[in-house]
Amino acid sequence: MNIHEYQAKQLLAKFGVAVPRGGVAYTPDEAAEVAKGLGGPVYVVKSQIHAGGRGAGRFTSDPDGKGGVRVVKSVDDVKTNAAAMLGHTLVTKQTGPAGKEVKRLYIEEGADIKRELYLGMLIDRASSRVTVMASTEGGMEIEEVAHDHPEKILKLAIDPVAGLQAHHARRVAFALGLEGKQVGACVKFVLAMYEAFIALDASIVEINPLVITGAGDVIALDAKMNFDDNALFRHKDVAELRDEDEEDPLEIEAGRHELNYVKLDGNIGCMVNGAGLAMATMDIIKLYGGEPANFLDVGGGATKERVTAAFKIILADKNVGGILVNIFGGIMRCDVIAEGVVAAAREVSLHVPLVVRLEGTNVDLGKKILAESGLPILSANNLADAAEKVVKAVKEAA
Ligand code: ADP
Ligand code: MG
Repeated sequence: MNIHEYQAKQLLAKFGVAVPRGGVAYTPDEAAEVAKGLGGPVYVVKSQIHAGGRGAGRFTSDPDGKGGVRVVKSVDDVKTNAAAMLGHTLVTKQTGPAGKEVKRLYIEEGADIKRELYLGMLIDRASSRVTVMASTEGGMEIEEVAHDHPEKILKLAIDPVAGLQAHHARRVAFALGLEGKQVGACVKFVLAMYEAFIALDASIVEINPLVITGAGDVIALDAKMNFDDNALFRHKDVAELRDEDEEDPLEIEAGRHELNYVKLDGNIGCMVNGAGLAMATMDIIKLYGGEPANFLDVGGGATKERVTAAFKIILADKNVGGILVNIFGGIMRCDVIAEGVVAAAREVSLHVPLVVRLEGTNVDLGKKILAESGLPILSANNLADAAEKVVKAVKEAA
């Protein structure tokens, strides 16, 4: 799960990570109120969307204008800029061409920036460890730095038992070229950030830029946090920060039914049990010249209700021109699946071709139920047959 910059800063601050003062605003008046409280002389008006690259982004309402992060010098300017940003669509490198509507702003005190650095922590799958990444190239995307100047990134894999130690934090400080009191401030920052990472079951904490101010302070000017969804049950306070406006509505609905659904760009809806089989199904659709409209794993214990919900979600996607149901009945029985598919197809009054491939326990009974349902269901004998049939049926229906 993702959260907004201001939420990440609030969480990190609780652990002692240094962040500028600021407040969230949903209207221009609220923005002005927050700015008055901060007192100036410099304010920064920051679009809150779940995507980076806001500073360099552009609003569709004002393509030649200023970006999604604006430094201003008066409360009036905070208000006018807030009005120009709220309710408008911001397109950044990370939003895709459709952009995201800005519904919240973060009004922050302006920092006196001497240097912009990079500090990130993430779970490295190769080493299975929390890995600290630090670089002097702040403000740039770390992927670009890794590509062009890998030597400019310090990477430290942290032993999960011993945890991050002060000597790790000092190595970060020295790699960033810090001196004097900045070293101590950086050590405190890195230790606090790691504590937050572990305590909150984060999967990514990225501070870009981490800045050194004119006064020698080390502060987080931007903050991005992602969390391990499987650990959210033990962090109710984090789970409450979810902003459904930032998520795909179909994916939210799928989550309510415990379906693993990811929307894609193709036109063949897939309903499969098991993530591996779902991936294989997408592959074979492509092999036969089709494009999957989604990844959908209904899970091992799919009930009739869940199958119906899955059908509705697949069909809510306007691009879907046909559906392939590919179920392996291991723990689940094929007759139960077939009953679910038939009930769901009736309930949603299916208007696109439906190909069903069943295999496993009670497969003959399952196929009989499909055949006797009277519904125009195309039954398939194996994965290749199923893919070929659905690709053909979708082409013919189009
Ligand atoms: P994004 O990464 O989405 O573009 P950032 O929060 O990193 O957004 O802001 C972009 C740039 O705006 C920063 O690199 C920094 O130069 C400037 N900036 C952001 N917040 C402040 C602030 N509080 N004071 C001064 N400059 C800021
Ligand atoms: Mg940034």
